[in-house]
Amino acid sequence: MSIRMVTRLGMLLAFVQCVGLQAAEPTRPNILLIFADDLTCQAISAYGDKRRLLETPQMDRLACDGMRFDRCLVTNSICGPSRATILTGKYSHVNGFYNNSNSRFDGAQQTFPKLLQAMGYSTAIIGKWHLQSEPTGFDHWHILPGQGIYYNPPMNKMGQQVKHSGYTTDVITDLSIDWIKNRDKSKPFLLMSQHKAPHREWAPAVRHLGWDKDRQYPEPETLFDDYAGRSKAISDHDMGLDRSFSELDAKLRPSANMTEEQLKGWNAYYEPRNDAFRKAKLTGKDLVRWRYNRYMHDYLACVKAVDESVGRMLEALEQEGIAQNTVVICSSDQGFFLGEHGWFDKRWIFEESLRSPLMVRWPGVIKPASVNGNIVSLLDFAETFLDLAGTKVPADMQGRSMVPLFRGEVPADWRKSLYYHYYEFPAPHHVRPHYGVITDRYKLIHYYKPDVNDWELLDRQADPLEVKNFYQAPEYAQTVKDLHVELNRLREEVRETGEPPREAFGNQAFEGEPKPAPKPATKKKAE
Ligand code: CA
Repeated sequence: MSIRMVTRLGMLLAFVQCVGLQAAEPTRPNILLIFADDLTCQAISAYGDKRRLLETPQMDRLACDGMRFDRCLVTNSICGPSRATILTGKYSHVNGFYNNSNSRFDGAQQTFPKLLQAMGYSTAIIGKWHLQSEPTGFDHWHILPGQGIYYNPPMNKMGQQVKHSGYTTDVITDLSIDWIKNRDKSKPFLLMSQHKAPHREWAPAVRHLGWDKDRQYPEPETLFDDYAGRSKAISDHDMGLDRSFSELDAKLRPSANMTEEQLKGWNAYYEPRNDAFRKAKLTGKDLVRWRYNRYMHDYLACVKAVDESVGRMLEALEQEGIAQNTVVICSSDQGFFLGEHGWFDKRWIFEESLRSPLMVRWPGVIKPASVNGNIVSLLDFAETFLDLAGTKVPADMQGRSMVPLFRGEVPADWRKSLYYHYYEFPAPHHVRPHYGVITDRYKLIHYYKPDVNDWELLDRQADPLEVKNFYQAPEYAQTVKDLHVELNRLREEVRETGEPPREAFGNQAFEGEPKPAPKPATKKKAE
């Protein structure tokens, strides 16, 4: 057989594998959102990161059966604000949830689950909520308090404190599957199944310890970024593998709340390796490299458990006979740095933390194995879900329904740019507030507070690693001018033209500033 024939046969097989779920277009589909926390595209094999960090067969299956979005961007790269944006379809400065420090979600405002509920959908959220106030708009909620913990998590079920045994990703999966099996079958449903993993401190399940056989991971090209020629805002951070990696991050001490048996498995893996590390007394780049490899083992193990959860959820849909009529959306509240620029964490407008994974399966509508490169956003989820349910989208939402994109159509007026704004400062990671405009190729960024006033222009085409500032380069003068116009237009459009209120930055004092007063209790806002 010739190489060409083999290649064709391979392509045909891939196509056949990807079309297993063709069906007639349903009406009022169920909506299942499988949502991870700090899950980044570099850790999902369907996204083809060149480091090939991890195989994620279940998420890949979603991409294979559905559509992979390559530029799903967030509007404020941090947990709570992203979740508030998803619920409301509005920017942080409109829904009032700016940061994880002192924001509290105003549950009296309009959200898409409330609108779906009013349309006859059965609505549930299980897992991480992280919005301080109690969920509204859900027939059933069963959430982790605050950030939640990785082992044997206490949870809050409709206002009652309950305890669970096991690894939190598995617990959330079990509860989600139970809810699907016992749902009100007379109604279509919305289920938001939301993991804590792989959020910091990225603690793996005991069964995944050592999964990588002590692999030495390929390093990102910018692991030792020197931030030369960049704003002080970038170099003066507190999220580096070289300076900010805690004992818990490094697993030099165990995660909280493990049983004796879990701790035994944990220690059997970590202790010999930690002993060797302590004896080696690493410093400088060697220490950064050790931490990077430890980080990759742990973070990716957490993703493995999320991937297994995706597989179990898809299996449950099959068992219930509802796979054909359920739109499955797999995503995360932002991306994450896996050593790029020397960092862990998120927050920045840079690509790794700006971009969320997004894979959507809708049998019979989305062409299997399709890929979309348009700029979409978590800001679009609310309108998309309402559109899926066939209901009218309120005019005050700020995103746009992705349903035409699911159908393979790109509206001529689809957005070419997106507005971004991050606020929380100084703790926990000393990332200064910044806003900007993002296009296919460029980012124009303003670091404006409290001790900087710097503009940057990034060109992803000329500099995919995002390590150069072209703002002052003469050949970019026209681009800079055009992007300023676009940024001003977007700020007008999203209604954020002035300085944000002090509370937007959190309740920690800036250097030299007295501690701000705590935020008053949430007032009920008119909708
Ligand atoms: Ca997050």
